[in-house]
Amino acid sequence: MAKTFASAGDMEEKTETLEVLAEGVYALTAEGDPNIGAIEGEDFIVAIEARATPKAAADWLKKLREHTDKPIRYLVLTHYHAVRVLGASAFGADEIIAHEKTRFLLEERGQEDWDSEFGRMPRLFREPDGIKGLTHPTLSFADNMRIELGGDRGHLELKFCGRGHTAGDIAVWYPKHKILFAGDLVEAEAALYTGDAFHMDWSTNTLDTVKAFEAEMLIGGRGAVAKGREAVDAAIEQTREFLVGMRDNVKAVHDKGGSLKEAFEATHTALAPKFGQWPIFEHCLPFNVQRLWDEYEGIDWPRIWTMDRDREVWALLQD
Ligand SMILES: [Zn+2]
Repeated sequence: MAKTFASAGDMEEKTETLEVLAEGVYALTAEGDPNIGAIEGEDFIVAIEARATPKAAADWLKKLREHTDKPIRYLVLTHYHAVRVLGASAFGADEIIAHEKTRFLLEERGQEDWDSEFGRMPRLFREPDGIKGLTHPTLSFADNMRIELGGDRGHLELKFCGRGHTAGDIAVWYPKHKILFAGDLVEAEAALYTGDAFHMDWSTNTLDTVKAFEAEMLIGGRGAVAKGREAVDAAIEQTREFLVGMRDNVKAVHDKGGSLKEAFEATHTALAPKFGQWPIFEHCLPFNVQRLWDEYEGIDWPRIWTMDRDREVWALLQD
């Protein structure tokens, strides 16, 4: 029987949990749906991620407003994906901050990604007609950026850790509490999406850089908050294991002149026992293997996913 395309058949609402991780540090997790966060400055808020629509963002802000009514000065986007950025208008932020490559990707392929992700994950697009258009960062940077929080709250460091989940992921580090918002560079018991990724960089230097923060708490892109050094490193190493597992299996088939379909089947067989029950595993794997195959073919800059290409790859690999 054919599998339902991507997450199009997943319409069951998840339970959302807002946690206060330290004074003024908020994270909302949702059983494997995309995570989101906020950090309080002395007289403003730094919001992290914007969700898929203004309605989805407003639902999050309603929960946040039970804790603080400070205005949102900064909205930080960890990367360009539609389900992380299209709700931006709901925040009324003075500045929208992203990596310079994220700014570029939003211009280059923002519309295609919007169409693609809406088709793949319709449940995340609450009231999709409310989206005000593509999101455009107002501030961008190449390596790192510092935000002073005021009072005795210390500062945040926004850091580019190397190419990974996309060309322009950033992590948000709060040294005072040793809390790291890692975006989709790390997932906690949720499958990785790597359709625009740089698998070689991500699984080596980039994850090493993320690990070097030695965070006490890590909020990944999906899944529960990792609490304690051991849990943080476990989440990072599980992410690496998933990437290396895909690399090994796709490379072996590619090296011996096999087909993309064979690479997909070998990877699925190898990864399913450990990762198959994690959220979005079946959804992501065809797109992941296609991108990794492209990398072994020498295609450095990820090809653009369109609704049509999504369906073609799905039909070839997952049906
Ligand atoms: Zn993403």
